[in-house]
Amino acid sequence: MFGCIFCQVAAHEKPAKILYEDSQCLVFEDIHPKAPVHLLVVPRKHIRSLNEDLDDDEALLGHLLTVAGRMAKERGIDSTGFRTVINTNAEAGQTVFHLHIHILGGRILQWPPG
Ligand code: 5GP
Ligand code: ZN
Repeated sequence: MFGCIFCQVAAHEKPAKILYEDSQCLVFEDIHPKAPVHLLVVPRKHIRSLNEDLDDDEALLGHLLTVAGRMAKERGIDSTGFRTVINTNAEAGQTVFHLHIHILGGRILQWPPG
């Protein structure tokens, strides 16, 4: 979508530290990491948030989680532990309105989150 920063990263129009790419998604480092490991799993398709009608995207959503688990293993945070987060709308802290899964790890994460 025009003007969307994650669409721009996916199109290689905006630089990012991209760690993984396939036909459906990409994974890159968060520009303002909140943990020693902070990655974003982003679908190529512009989906605004989980508030959209996602009936036709169930396979894609499953793929994003599968890739998230694989990336956590690759970064060596699978056995210590990691958190996957999807923020939806303002009160949850969503600031980029292109669906993404945060992967956070490499330190002790408090629960419940703030
Ligand atoms: P949200 O707040 O929507 O859940 O997460 C958006 C995330 O995207 C934030 O953690 C923020 O640091 C990250 N972010 C925002 N702009 C950019 C960017 O241009 N490049 C990268 N790599 N991350 C970004
Ligand atoms: Zn987008």
